[in-house]
Amino acid sequence: MIHRERVADDVYTFQSDVYAQVNAGAVIGQDWAVVIDTLAFPDETLAIREFIERELKRKVRYVINTHYHADHSWGNCFFPGAYILSSGLCRELLGKYGQKSLTAALETDNTFQKTQIVLPHITLEEGVLELIIGAKTLRFIDLPGHSPDGIGVYIVEDEVLFAGDVWMPIPHIVDGDGEVMRESLRKISQLTIENVVQGHGEVILRGEVNSSIADRIDYLDKIDQVVLDAAQDEYPGEYLREKTIEECGRSRILLGGAAEEIHQQNLRHLYQKVHGEKPRYFNS
Ligand SMILES: [Zn+2]
Repeated sequence: MIHRERVADDVYTFQSDVYAQVNAGAVIGQDWAVVIDTLAFPDETLAIREFIERELKRKVRYVINTHYHADHSWGNCFFPGAYILSSGLCRELLGKYGQKSLTAALETDNTFQKTQIVLPHITLEEGVLELIIGAKTLRFIDLPGHSPDGIGVYIVEDEVLFAGDVWMPIPHIVDGDGEVMRESLRKISQLTIENVVQGHGEVILRGEVNSSIADRIDYLDKIDQVVLDAAQDEYPGEYLREKTIEECGRSRILLGGAAEEIHQQNLRHLYQKVHGEKPRYFNS
């Protein structure tokens, strides 16, 4: 149900097989462990805990949320006794929207019956925070753009970056901002990197980092242009619908088939932001 991978000594990633290839991670120390993000469904998050507690025989002392979205933070409640860490804004946004979204989710299915929204106990506002675990240093980096509250976790000694959703196979900007995302991606390109664990999708290896950043910025440039061109069309909504993800240079099979939907959300969001109104459709 979850796919586990070891990316460095005592550093693991866990990927959901069922929800948009979302990733979580863990760094294992002598006596205790840090979890980076939780997964979309309770069973998946519990499987991470079981692996760390039963197989590796460590207790999870800290859980870091890279941002407040449900598929990264709703598993906080499955680590009772752990301290939850995030940006201050993540705590604020999870407090504002978490319970509302959870209540709405419970109306349609009972997958989240045991889920509770647990707000971070420790927040960082600015400056540099490092968490030391055994021989490893976890450095927190502000990486907004996918959402305003995003942070990444850089393991200094291993040169591994858990980037959160600012880095995905297809940039997703409906809760963020393309320009801010570009800045975050450029900031990442300054780091020495062995591996990037994206918020969703496969691990990016050192040799792919630069081209991968360039691909994402290229996609953001393309959708900017599409949205400008769409305004010339009598029915911009139809125009956007025809500009598929493949026309914007990315594959539609990414993210377990969710790619086109994410892409269309980006286009509609950006259109409204740039032109101040929703795109018009033939029959609206
Ligand atoms: Zn997200």
